Parts: sequence; C-alpha cells; structure tokens
Amino acid sequence: AAEQLSESDPQALSYGYQTDASKVDKSKYATYQAGQECANCSLYSGKAGAPSGGCVLFGAKEVAAHGWCSAYTNS
Ligand code: SF4
Repeated sequence: AAEQLSESDPQALSYGYQTDASKVDKSKYATYQAGQECANCSLYSGKAGAPSGGCVLFGAKEVAAHGWCSAYTNS
C-alpha cells in the first residue's frame, strides 16, 4: 500500500493538512467551506470511493479522501 501523508509531515503542516476535513481550524483557514475534501479537490487523483489517493502536491504519499488542506481547489 502507498505511504499515507502524515499531518505532522513538514509540508503537510505548511498547508494545514488534516486527515479529517471537519477538524480544519476554521479560524486559521478561512477559505475552508463545509463539504470540501480531498475527494472533490481537482488536485486529487484517487479513485471514487477509495479511502485515500494521490495528490499533485504530495508526490508518492497518499492523502485521505476525507482530508483537506489549504491548497484545496474546486473541481
Ligand atoms: Fe487534499 Fe486537494 Fe489539499 Fe491535495 S490539494 S491535500 S487533494 S485538499
């Protein structure tokens, strides 16, 4: 299985990545809107229904389908 991106990874920290989008610090990341998650971000390449998948930003490490980071882009 592919390595999962850790929230404590330095690059993940710089983007405020959370494996659970509902845990995003909304006071710090005001762009976050309910319903946004990796699975519906245009930088995500995971298969529909899979628990995790690739993200352009994080190379070989997979991000959580229900995760979020500050580079979220509407798809
Ligand atoms: Fe998730 Fe998109 Fe951030 Fe990648 S860029 S971690 S897919 S929200």
